Amino acid sequence: MKTDIEIAQEAKLKPIREIAESLDLTEDDWEPYGHTKAKLSDRLLKKLNSVPDGKVILVTSINPTPAGEGKSTVTVGLGQALHKIGEKAIIALREPSLGPVMGMKGGAAGGGYSQVLPMEDINLHFTGDLHAITSANNALSAMIDNHIQRGNKLQIDPRRIEWKRVLDMNDRVLRQIVVGLGGPKQGVPREDGFTITVASEIMAILCLATGLDDLKERLARIVIGYTFKEKPVTVKDLKIEGALALLLKEAIKPNLVQTVENTPAIIHGGPFANIAHGCNSILATKTAAKLGDYVITEAGFGADLGAEKFLDIKTRAGNFEPSAVVIVATVRALKMHGGVEKDQLTTENVEALKQGMANLEKHIETIEHFGLPYVVAINKFPTDTEKETNFIHSWCREKGIDVALTDVWAHGGEGGIELAEKVVQKANTKERHFNRVYELDEPLETKIRKIAQKVYGAVDIEFAAKAKKQLQFYQQQGWGNLPVCMAKTQYSLSDNPALLGRPSGFTITIRELRASIGAGFIVVLTGEMMTMPGLPKHPAALNMDVTADGKIAGLF
Ligand code: ADP
Repeated sequence: MKTDIEIAQEAKLKPIREIAESLDLTEDDWEPYGHTKAKLSDRLLKKLNSVPDGKVILVTSINPTPAGEGKSTVTVGLGQALHKIGEKAIIALREPSLGPVMGMKGGAAGGGYSQVLPMEDINLHFTGDLHAITSANNALSAMIDNHIQRGNKLQIDPRRIEWKRVLDMNDRVLRQIVVGLGGPKQGVPREDGFTITVASEIMAILCLATGLDDLKERLARIVIGYTFKEKPVTVKDLKIEGALALLLKEAIKPNLVQTVENTPAIIHGGPFANIAHGCNSILATKTAAKLGDYVITEAGFGADLGAEKFLDIKTRAGNFEPSAVVIVATVRALKMHGGVEKDQLTTENVEALKQGMANLEKHIETIEHFGLPYVVAINKFPTDTEKETNFIHSWCREKGIDVALTDVWAHGGEGGIELAEKVVQKANTKERHFNRVYELDEPLETKIRKIAQKVYGAVDIEFAAKAKKQLQFYQQQGWGNLPVCMAKTQYSLSDNPALLGRPSGFTITIRELRASIGAGFIVVLTGEMMTMPGLPKHPAALNMDVTADGKIAGLF
């Protein structure tokens, strides 16, 4: 089997103009960024206001293994398959962060014969959106420190600044730092730290903004910290929302690319899926819905985190509803949920698979709770045996659940025809009762409890002392009506990554809350959440190279 980069290099890319023209875009609607990438106008969505929306298909999954279960791959493959059966489909994905690319996760541009291209650009600097977000984030940090240095009129308490600097790299030594050392001319010393760019609130804002105006208003609402009297200090107080919006004026424009099979794909924004909502931008998804009859998009991690946030946060901010959901399951992850060790996942084990089905069952119940039609996609790996895939198939059929064996990684769109046909059928079912898990006017505590009980299957929630105080303080600030953004381990339905399968009888401990007022949600931390990852012992970077004639190697 060829590597992803080999497949990518052999693919015949069309000039991006042809892709833009296939979407009936005019010269004003887009601008080329080289031969194979383009930026779409951020005003395109408003221009197409009267065009009916295409159907949004959300791709989610069971609780994954650390390697990922192929949501991006299935998203790309399904888009390609829909094209093959004659549907006008557009893929909408997140932009990868450089940190994990250099580290270990692998790219986020799909895999095998279901990739978005040019994958080397998408995985590296792409169109510079992440760098623009880094600049805007750090401009704010610089303004905060300058404000304090120049007399601190706002009385910002340097010990209560929550805004951190960012870098798009896994760089553990920067997690906690002291800035302003060296005497009066170097600023006022204070503790600071770096998070990875995709964890910046500005990334979440860019992804939830419906246009440049909304972006600026959201930036203005960011709470950077508190005064000596514990009053929130905002970007508006510092009067720099205009400058920050200016730095983001190109980054807010969605990026147009294509897949290995020349299916159009819009790749835009990539917030962390734990302390943020983990979905590509609303502008990308909604613009894609205007340009195509189907938009295939994904949300980070499993359905307990990704789908919940997509449905409770993103669809609220963007005022839309998905038409159907694809739940990706893999033999290897289900076996892991059935108790198999990581190094044994490639050995056939139907008994363990049987045990592990409980995890899929819970996610199915969650999507049913949301009232959305769904199809289970078995993402077939080369190591899966027929007995194993047959088992999942019959398990679903016996319960009347629509399921499709999907082999888009090895065969591209051709491997996803059955899934595409089932998705079209589901997306066009008339009867639907979309419910969200909570209402916005419920107290924060109720919202958190509802997610924990209905989506995770917890008995109840409990608050650490710090979180309890914050809960009260946030309600007093008038932030109680915001949605909640849960930060929980992706590996388990519970807050303990070791509890696989479908754990029961557990309580979710709420350790801390964070106010992302610009993004418009309250982050709820249920464990230690790493916002600046470190590099592994053998970073993926060690395999990477570029030759004098520009040929890239080792990028997955
Ligand atoms: P996710 O979006 O769920 O994190 P990805 O689609 O990024 O997962 O896939 C994770 C990794 O697994 C990628 O390197 C991808 O190439 C690989 N992969 C996905 N599906 C398959 C498959 N069916 N067979 C082999 N490798 C796969």
